[in-house]
Amino acid sequence: MTQGWRQLDVGVLGGGIGGMSVAIALRRAGHRVTIYEKHDFAGEVGASVSCAANGTRWLHEWGVDVEKGDPVVLKKLINRDWHTGEPVSTFDLDDYEEKWGYVYNMFHRQYMHRMLKDCAMQEKGEGIPVKLLVNHACQEIDLRTSTVTFKNGVQMQHDLIIGADGIGSAARGILGILPAKRPAEQSCLHANVSTEQAVKLGLVDYSQNAALEYWGGQEGKWDKIVLSPCNGGKLLSYYCFFPRDKGDYTTQAWGADSLPVEDLLAPYPELDAQVKAHLAIGVEVQPWRLWVHDPYPYIQKANVCLLGDAAHPMMPHQSQGACMAIEDAAALGIIFNKAYFQGDVREALEVYEKVRLPRATRVQAAAAKAAYNINERIGFSANKGKCATYKVEDEKKKLTIEEMNAYDMYKDIEEKLTTIRGEKFLAPFIAGLPIGLEMPNGVTVGA
Ligand SMILES: Cc1cc2nc3c(=O)[nH]c(=O)nc-3n(C[C@H](O)[C@H](O)[C@H](O)COP(=O)(O)OP(=O)(O)OC[C@H]3O[C@@H](n4cnc5c(N)ncnc54)[C@H](O)[C@@H]3O)c2cc1C
Repeated sequence: MTQGWRQLDVGVLGGGIGGMSVAIALRRAGHRVTIYEKHDFAGEVGASVSCAANGTRWLHEWGVDVEKGDPVVLKKLINRDWHTGEPVSTFDLDDYEEKWGYVYNMFHRQYMHRMLKDCAMQEKGEGIPVKLLVNHACQEIDLRTSTVTFKNGVQMQHDLIIGADGIGSAARGILGILPAKRPAEQSCLHANVSTEQAVKLGLVDYSQNAALEYWGGQEGKWDKIVLSPCNGGKLLSYYCFFPRDKGDYTTQAWGADSLPVEDLLAPYPELDAQVKAHLAIGVEVQPWRLWVHDPYPYIQKANVCLLGDAAHPMMPHQSQGACMAIEDAAALGIIFNKAYFQGDVREALEVYEKVRLPRATRVQAAAAKAAYNINERIGFSANKGKCATYKVEDEKKKLTIEEMNAYDMYKDIEEKLTTIRGEKFLAPFIAGLPIGLEMPNGVTVGA
């Protein structure tokens, strides 16, 4: 154990995917954790959440029972022609696990959440089981005394406070961060389709492909349909994007009554009839508000830090929002563990910011680009020469799968920590990537 290490009493604001993840990581690092959640998790509407190898690896490291999430292990990314549905660009994930050590999971959001909650709160496993208090909405934080005041009048003091309270974060405003944000040019409606019902009606059984499938996205337009199978393939989760002038949902909230299916079909007169027939039997049609946030200048102050969507909300087009929240959690779990933490919370949070802000900002920018050009999406971005319509803004700047999955967070943390402590970092890594790694964008790490 490092000299100076001490057990912290940690308060996590928000019990979503990021909040549950950080609770697991910090409990394993030896700390006492309480999660304060605004809602009570009742009545949520389902949707898929993708968890690529850079997220999945931490679930395994933390001993999460991944099978509880009933995932579909993805075998392919398929981009289809908007009108005919014929494949235009595909990315095979056959050697994905062999190459990166972990699979690409597609979870159902509620199952994933439950799987993480169980892991955080169960007796089994390393550390002290996490305490969860629902119906506790953070209202104020006294940064001087690290005391949180909740809307129900309760006040709690903690050694470390983590704002994992999502895109509308209260903690972020309290830290003095005022997001520069604007509504996206694009709207999104989500719908669920039962595979069983689709098959009964004689429609295509897309679940057989175990693929994340996309219609459109090659023409520099905002229209795109994204299909992700989850619940072991029993549920097809559809994300339907279109230009905002065809329907503005920027002020409508997820979780209200289902919208009529006609709203879902209206923007797509020319869409491939096979997928359109699926959308026609869509249920639980919900708007997903899309706002573009510029990167924040900082994500920590005093004894408080932000995590997940509170720290770096991003457009959904790299499917990395949840993975970035999981990576944030993993970073805090390492920085505060017995090998690295010497008792100085301020030093630890500065390292956290130095490790997380650049990486999340890179993904955030790439997600905004992929909104109108699917070739910028990790996976398809490797298809230069394999897809007739392949084109990216700047070959050298495109985001690659290597950057996401060859990343060694321990090395990144060691580099930042030794620098802050005025020591020398000698391992052959830069920002967590091995020096000499050749990436498909033509960049060699450290060259
Ligand atoms: C429909 C939909 C589909 C998505 N699909 C994908 C996908 O396929 N892949 C992917 O990687 N990402 C996806 N995302 C994004 C991903 O879910 C988020 O990036 C990820 O959940 C971030 O986790 P988080 O914990 O930061 O935020 P959230 O999961 O949003 O959790 C925030 C929590 O904080 C609580 N809260 C809010 N305010 C307060 C307060 N004042 N006090 C206390 N608690 C508070 C909320 O109730 C919530 O439980 C999707 C998001 C949505 C909405």
